[in-house]
Amino acid sequence: MEKKENRKLVILGAAESGVGAAVLALQKGYDVFVSDRGAIKPAYKAELNRRGIRWEEGQHTESEVLAADEVVKSPGIPDTAPMVVRVREAGIPIISEIEFAGRYTDSRMICITGSNGKTTTTSLIYHILRNAGYDVGLAGNIGHSLALQVAEEPHAIYVIELSSFQLDNMYDFRANIAVLLNITPDHLDRYDYKMQNYTDSKMRIVQNQTEDDAFVYWGDDPVVTKELHKYGIRSRQCPFSILRKEGMVGYVADGQYVIEQPTPVNMEQEALALRGKHNLYNSLAAGIAADLSGVDSDTLRRSLSDFQGIEHRLEFVCRDERGVTWINDSKATNVDACWYALESMTTPTVLIIGGLDKGNDYNAILPLVREKCCALVFLGADNSVLHAFFDGKVDMPIADVHSMADCVAECRRLVPDEGTVLLSPCCASFDLFNNMEDRGEQFKHLAKTPQPPTL
Ligand code: ADP
Repeated sequence: MEKKENRKLVILGAAESGVGAAVLALQKGYDVFVSDRGAIKPAYKAELNRRGIRWEEGQHTESEVLAADEVVKSPGIPDTAPMVVRVREAGIPIISEIEFAGRYTDSRMICITGSNGKTTTTSLIYHILRNAGYDVGLAGNIGHSLALQVAEEPHAIYVIELSSFQLDNMYDFRANIAVLLNITPDHLDRYDYKMQNYTDSKMRIVQNQTEDDAFVYWGDDPVVTKELHKYGIRSRQCPFSILRKEGMVGYVADGQYVIEQPTPVNMEQEALALRGKHNLYNSLAAGIAADLSGVDSDTLRRSLSDFQGIEHRLEFVCRDERGVTWINDSKATNVDACWYALESMTTPTVLIIGGLDKGNDYNAILPLVREKCCALVFLGADNSVLHAFFDGKVDMPIADVHSMADCVAECRRLVPDEGTVLLSPCCASFDLFNNMEDRGEQFKHLAKTPQPPTL
């Protein structure tokens, strides 16, 4: 008979990962209590009630939480939250849902992290493995929580998108294939504004890897290559580059996409479904991970060509009656993502930026703004940081707006015929929108709404 845990597990945060962890914990015999300081979505409450799992919302009852043997914390709750501080002071271990779920499965784990490109690469790997007929689940920041799948819909392989917040509370979890796309400044507000802390967090993806595992990473990333030696990596190293170089397992050369090993694959770069330089990295990382997983080269090529892309990531919205191309990159919530968007622009571009700034340094995009843009539209509740940086540094019109309706109207006024309007905001959306999806959807809707004829 399976061993019952007989221990108390408290779960902080009742969304996808928290509710999944609660279901798995109940199945394993824990005494489970779920606590959320905010409001819990009705669907999750119903799920908890249906299973008889105790929960609370709008508060954390300290006596309940501090009676835990272990706490599973949602990645959205910062370490500085008062209840988290108290749990730590009480010496109660805090883990992530992924760490918890990992204890109850021996399935193969393909884990993807990086500052940008996680969702794209994770979805692409999942797509390739599904096309290859593998029994595979999608988890982490996308899909159903890993814990729920381990409890109720187990798969032989999981493809898991991991943010640094999830990695922070992972200790014994082992990734069979770890993919690290890049490390650029992001979320520094949660890392004491220290880049080293954020880097250490991302590098946790290789902890516990053995000689049987593989580490796929961008071989040109200035941070990763500099830091690599510090972490005692034992797994097989599989770097990639967009240039053919010594030691690279995957690269692009003479218009060919190439993976050298374990099974050699090559295809026309033109045939790749995902466009833009950043997506070459993503396609290389995904292709190597799939190749390491034993996917045959025909399936690999076909899957890299027929992948549909994902909403809100350099998403083509429409070409309007004036030949203007509208592009929704609402997910670009940091400067690096915007850099890659700008880099792939081919006609004069009106760039929409703004929102909640996480400590951005706009110097990184300044040369590209000068080269590619014909106007800037600042879209935020407070645009003063943007004005302080750009005013006087760029020779182009700048508009200041506080709603998507005004934003799209300004863009129509500023964009030349055959130009491009690019929403790639460098910032989080919560000052004016519910989330980045809301921001992208409003943009797409208005961009596609025909303009009334001018009188
Ligand atoms: P994440 O899940 O890491 O946030 P996404 O795949 O959702 O990554 O993409 C987020 C943003 O970053 C989008 O604007 C996208 O165009 C851009 N992006 C995607 N891949 C990369 C990459 N490899 N390097 C830099 N930017 C990227």
